[in-house]
Amino acid sequence: MYELATLDTELAAIEVVREVLVLQRRLRGGGCTGRVCLRCVRHHRDAVAKTMARGLTIDFLLPAFPTKSPNPAKVLGPLPDLAEELALRFLESLCERVAEVYPPGARIRICSDGRVFNDLIGVSDDDVTRYAHELNRMIDRIGAVHLDQYTLDDVYPGADPTRMRGALTTGRGPRPEDLRAEVRGGGDLVHMYRGITRFMLEDLSTPEYTGSRAALQRRSRELAYGVIARSRAWDELLGELFPDAVRLSIHPQPCGTRKIGLLLADTPDVWLTPWHSAAVETGEGRFTLMKRAAAEAVGARLVTARGRPSHFVLPRSPEARSPESRATAAAATAVPVPAPASIPDPRQEPRHAC
Ligand SMILES: [Zn+2]
Repeated sequence: MYELATLDTELAAIEVVREVLVLQRRLRGGGCTGRVCLRCVRHHRDAVAKTMARGLTIDFLLPAFPTKSPNPAKVLGPLPDLAEELALRFLESLCERVAEVYPPGARIRICSDGRVFNDLIGVSDDDVTRYAHELNRMIDRIGAVHLDQYTLDDVYPGADPTRMRGALTTGRGPRPEDLRAEVRGGGDLVHMYRGITRFMLEDLSTPEYTGSRAALQRRSRELAYGVIARSRAWDELLGELFPDAVRLSIHPQPCGTRKIGLLLADTPDVWLTPWHSAAVETGEGRFTLMKRAAAEAVGARLVTARGRPSHFVLPRSPEARSPESRATAAAATAVPVPAPASIPDPRQEPRHAC
């Protein structure tokens, strides 16, 4: 067992929490202040110190990497690509930095939530299975020894997906009327509700759709409530299974709350994730995320790897683009983007995410 003196444990715990919080995805108006929020450091320090005092690896849980969006205008296909790989490399590098402070290190358990709500977002169970398998293969291929994946299939091995979701939500998650009241109340949940509703609206607005815009909006709002309710149930189940883990989230969180919001990529659209977009190299090894249609509109070149679409490269020369695409590209790249090995760069001021 790894042992630290008491004082060293306290100091090392603060350093570990700082390594995470320098990448914090903050809720606008959520109360965090400073480059690294000291209230958040204090809030999360004890849980980390408790694990460190026992000489154990620090467990982080991150519900993320569910499945690719079913919208072909956003993504390159149903399987993980360079967008996911960059995010995984970033998470691995975070664990490596923690190990420099505390040799037993940290592990990030990616609690992939695709199976939790894929039936609501129009993705098949087979696609969820393939995405999760490919993500595991990617973790192995890039040598991310501090990452692993945990899914609903691990909770209910061999069960039918519909039964898994039924078992998950039996006795867990909010009642629909309570969720609606929470959103109507205008709390922190509103940001997530609006973001998910927007995703649903985008993904349902296919050329085949013939109904009214109002009906589509109603359907999107209904589905967003369903996704949030299932996600809450998954969150509760993870809390039951891993009570001592430090909780991370891809969504911005208020100051000093149970979870730490974490940036996975620095993009102009803070709701853009690797599974709702494609990686785009903007020059000199720097990457951002863009929806597929947006990347194509600015003349980005598609790159394949291992026989599959991988990412885009923006044209190097502005002269190579049309005046219209030059203007769009300028807007897309106006926000600084960090290098892939350091998305986002911990040396930079953390961006307030929403
Ligand atoms: Zn804070």
